[in-house]
Amino acid sequence: MNNINDILDKLKLSKFRNSFHLKEKDKLYVKEKGIEEIRKHAYNFITTRLAPSYIPNDGKQTPTKNHPVFIAEHATATCCRSCLYKWHKIPKNRKLTEVEINYIVDLIMEFIKREMEN
Ligand SMILES: [Zn+2]
Repeated sequence: MNNINDILDKLKLSKFRNSFHLKEKDKLYVKEKGIEEIRKHAYNFITTRLAPSYIPNDGKQTPTKNHPVFIAEHATATCCRSCLYKWHKIPKNRKLTEVEINYIVDLIMEFIKREMEN
């Protein structure tokens, strides 16, 4: 796992990762729900879609739109276990720990907060 600010800077250099940004309707949704509620959504998505040791549709479990957290997952390379391994060195084929889940949620929320300032 990396320092959140360092990895966000690194991700920005990837043309693919840097192509994901919140749209106006996503920002509106974040404002309506509030940042604490969005954090709960992120925690839920990560624990159900990313944390299990075996995920039958790994690599395809995260849509590219329709929720700010989904967009943030692609932008931060926390969309699937392959990306988690490649970018964050979190091993595949085992359950994520609570520390790893919190790291991922922190990363997603930091991305969203930065997007909201733009
Ligand atoms: Zn992925």
